[in-house]
Amino acid sequence: MKQSKLLLQTLRETPKDADVVSQQLMMRAGMIQKQAAGIYSYFPLALRSIRKFEQIVREELEKDGCQEILMPAVQPAELWEESGRWKFYGKELLRFRDRKDAWFCLGPTHEEVVTDMVRRTVRSYKQLPMNVFQIQSKFRDEIRPRFGLMRGREFIMKDGYSFHASDADCDREYWAMFEAYKRIFARLGVKFRPVEADSGAIGGSFTHEFHVLAGSGEDAILSCDACDYTSNIEKTEAPKLAPGDHGAAFALTRDHFATPGIVSQELQAAAMKDADHPGGMPIAQTSKFFLYHATMADQTQKLVGAVVRGDHDVNPVKVKNFVGATDMELFPIEEAEAFTGAKSGFMGPVGLKDVQIIVDQSLEGGVNYTCGANKTDFHHFGLDPARDLPGAVFADIRIAAEGDACTRCGKGHYQAFRGIEVGQVFKLGIKYSQSMGCTFLDEQGKELPMIMGCYGIGVTRTVAAAIEQNYDADGIVWPWPIAPFQVHLLNLDPGGEEVSKVAFQLEAELEQAGFEVLHDEREGLSPGAKFKDADLLGFPLRLMVGSKGLKDGVVELRDRRTKELVKLRPEEVVASVTAAKARIMASLAEAGGR
Ligand code: ATP
Ligand code: MG
Repeated sequence: MKQSKLLLQTLRETPKDADVVSQQLMMRAGMIQKQAAGIYSYFPLALRSIRKFEQIVREELEKDGCQEILMPAVQPAELWEESGRWKFYGKELLRFRDRKDAWFCLGPTHEEVVTDMVRRTVRSYKQLPMNVFQIQSKFRDEIRPRFGLMRGREFIMKDGYSFHASDADCDREYWAMFEAYKRIFARLGVKFRPVEADSGAIGGSFTHEFHVLAGSGEDAILSCDACDYTSNIEKTEAPKLAPGDHGAAFALTRDHFATPGIVSQELQAAAMKDADHPGGMPIAQTSKFFLYHATMADQTQKLVGAVVRGDHDVNPVKVKNFVGATDMELFPIEEAEAFTGAKSGFMGPVGLKDVQIIVDQSLEGGVNYTCGANKTDFHHFGLDPARDLPGAVFADIRIAAEGDACTRCGKGHYQAFRGIEVGQVFKLGIKYSQSMGCTFLDEQGKELPMIMGCYGIGVTRTVAAAIEQNYDADGIVWPWPIAPFQVHLLNLDPGGEEVSKVAFQLEAELEQAGFEVLHDEREGLSPGAKFKDADLLGFPLRLMVGSKGLKDGVVELRDRRTKELVKLRPEEVVASVTAAKARIMASLAEAGGR
C-alpha cells in the first residue's frame, strides 16, 4: 500500500496529555486520536493491529468450540434490575433514557444480556455445555480514564460466557479457556503470566488474570522463582513468620511515650526508648492497627480491626474476604478518632467494644509488641495478642513481599513484577443464572440453575500493552503477529525512475509472497525524515531502496528490533524477508509464555 494514500499524520513532539509510552507512541504514530477523555478514534494502522489480535483470539477460541455472537451495546435496565446490578453497579454504568422514558445503559459487560439469551433458548441438559463470545466496544465511565487505550472509557473487549449442567463441567471449561488464553498471548509474542487473582468472598468462584509484564503496569505480581505459583499481590499468600525473641512477657500496660506528631512507623519505633531499648524498638516488634467499616451480604454493618507487624502492610482484600464482607472501607478518620478516643497513630486493638479483631498470623505466639494505647501520644508495650485480645483470630492478612518464602512449594521465594491485566477468566457459579432464572432440565427432569463461567480479554488494552513491552527510544517495536504492516519499504529517491521501478516491483513481489507492505513513496522528504517515521511506526522489517545502493546493485534490509542491516540484490529480497520472518517468529516463541 502507498503511504501517501494512508490516513496518517505522524507527530514529532510528544503530546502533552499523553502519560504512558504506548499512548505517546500511538498518538505520535498517528494510530489514535482522542475525541474525549478515554474515548478514541482508531486510524487504519491501529485498526490493522486490533483486527489481527482479534483474529488470533477468534481462531484460538474456535478451536475450543466457542461460538461468536454479537449482543447489543445498548441494554435495557430491566435485565440489570433482575440481576440486582442496576442498584449496585455505581457510576461506571452510563445510564440514559430513550424517547419513551425507558431506562437503558451502555454495556460495560454482558452477563445480563447473555444470560437472558440463553435462558430463552436452552431448555435441556442435552444442549449444554454452551460457550459463546463476542468482540465489541464496551463503555465504562471510569472515574479516571488514563494511559490512552489502557484505561479508556470506550474500549474493545472480547467477552465470552459459558453455561454448564454441572460444576465439574464448568471447571473443565474454565481450564480449557485458561489454556486457550495461554495460546492467545503466546501467539501474540509478548511476555505474560497467568496470575491467581482475588474473586471476592463468593464461595465456589475462582479466577485468574492474564498479565502482560511491563514496568508501567498498574498491578503488582509476585511469582515464585522455583514453582509456577504466580499471583496478584492482593491475593498472594504470605508465609507465617516465626515471632522474634522479645524476652519474657511484660504486662500490657507498660506505657511508652511516642513523640507527638511522628506518624511514620519507623520514626515512631525509633522514638520508643526505654532502659531495655535505648536505641528504640525494633520495627518488627511494633504493630500497626487499621479500623474498617464492613458491609455484609445481608446489609448488616460492622467494625473490623486489623493488626499487622510494624514492618508489614495490611492487605485489605484479605481482611475483607476473611470476614466475608461484600464491601469494606477504612473507617473515616474523624469517626475512628471519636470511636477510639485517640488521634491517628495512637489507636490500637485493645479494649475496643463491638469490633471484630483480626491479627496477622505472624504475630501468633509472640509477646511484647507495641500498639497504640487508644490514648493520644501513648503506646502500650507488652501486647500479647493471645492474652490481651480476647475473641481475636489469627489469619493471613498482610501483603506478601518480594523475598518471602513461597507458601506453595516451600522452596522458592517470591519475585516481584509489574503487570498489565489484559484478560481474566472467572468461574461465576450460579450468581446470574439463579437471580435471572437461567435454568435447564437435568436427566431426571429436575429444573436447576446453569453453572456459568465468564472470560474477558481487553483487546485494545492488549495492543497498547504490547507496545508498553516493546519499544525503544525511536519508537514502537511491533511483535510480528500484530504489526500493522510487516515490511516498511522506503523509496529514498522517489524522483528517480529506476529506483521507483525497483521499489514498486519489490512491493508487488513481497505482497505476492504474502507479506504486508507499506510503501513510503512520498516525494519531497529526506531519507532521514523517512527513517524517523519508519522507526516510530516500528514495523518489524525495513527495506530501503535508493539510487546510491542501486548503483552497486543492492537494496538494504533492516531489522527494527536488532537494528541489523544487510545488503541484498533485489532478487534476493523475498527469500531474505521470508528468512527474517522465520527468525523473528522463533525468537517470539521463546519470549511467549515465560
Ligand atoms: P481493571 O481492574 O483494570 O479495571 P476489570 O478487572 O474491571 O479491569 P474486567 O471486567 O475483567 O476488567 O474486563 C475484562 C478485560 O477488559 C480486562 O482484563 C481488561 O483487559 C479490559 N478492560 C477493563 N477495563 C478497561 C478499560 N477501562 N480500558 C481498557 N480495557 C479495559
Ligand atoms: Mg478483571
